[in-house]
Amino acid sequence: MLPFKLVYSDDYFLPIGTHVFPSEKYKLVHDRLLESGIAEASDFVSPRPSTDEDILLVHTPRYVEKLKTGTLSGREELEMEIPYSPELVRAFWLAAGGSMLAADNALDDGVGISIGGGFHHAFPGHGEGFCMINDVAVAIRRMQRDGRIRTAMTLDCDVHQGNGTATIFAPAPVPGGPSGMSGVRQENIDVFTISLHQENNYPAFKPPSSLDLNLPDGMEDSEYLACLGQAFSLGLSKFQPELLCYVAGADPYREDQLGGLSLTIEGLKARDALVFRIAKAERIPVMVTLAGGYAQNLEDTITIHSNTIVAAKEVFAEK
Ligand SMILES: [Zn+2]
Repeated sequence: MLPFKLVYSDDYFLPIGTHVFPSEKYKLVHDRLLESGIAEASDFVSPRPSTDEDILLVHTPRYVEKLKTGTLSGREELEMEIPYSPELVRAFWLAAGGSMLAADNALDDGVGISIGGGFHHAFPGHGEGFCMINDVAVAIRRMQRDGRIRTAMTLDCDVHQGNGTATIFAPAPVPGGPSGMSGVRQENIDVFTISLHQENNYPAFKPPSSLDLNLPDGMEDSEYLACLGQAFSLGLSKFQPELLCYVAGADPYREDQLGGLSLTIEGLKARDALVFRIAKAERIPVMVTLAGGYAQNLEDTITIHSNTIVAAKEVFAEK
């Protein structure tokens, strides 16, 4: 039995038809974890969908209304890059509920993992890049509203910059203050956002996170791990969160169709282990979501995501 819970539902499946986003991956990761003996059936817990009230902690009433009534404009649907349906809305409400449960579990157990989520391109008033609802932001705001935490840090290791997350948690402008172009941004914030991503990739415009690492094309394991260690340590020297939200994208992989970094499967597992080791040493509860993964060979994406759970198991089972 694992020393933490895995949040999963068959209804995480995104009904988007044939798409570069392999929406069946959640079930495949779930099945792989069971078949390989990494997890047992009793390690899994089922999420409940978020309420509209939860979603509205992050998203605008107008956007939520459009989603609930199927009245997005053609342009808005195009920008989301996944076909709208009421079933898809339900899947995203469930993903947000899953991330809330994983955050709750992390605060109880030290670690909580959702076999889904990580939709970091969703903004308060619109969706883009396969993301409708920013599940991680909803989870953070819900934990804050419930008084479980005051502060959080997002550590986004998807190959694409977390533009929605950066925008949602951007500092409130200080009247007459500096414009925030001086590196690490930490004024007036309760959530510190870190994003490590390929610079020459979507999104073209990258709204500033608290700390952005714009990585060059083709970066390999050892350089990446060094950058990650430095960025995470720098972030923790500036800000001490009560919850870490790790966005464990599989797309920095060298054979990813939408990524241009050159990490190996082993390098990605070492990445996960590094994050978990530091979080454990600093005694920061860590919530994990899967985010993107578009390997030419779907089996590789499943292996990379499954390895995130293996790495957590190895690190958190150690005394
Ligand atoms: Zn991505």
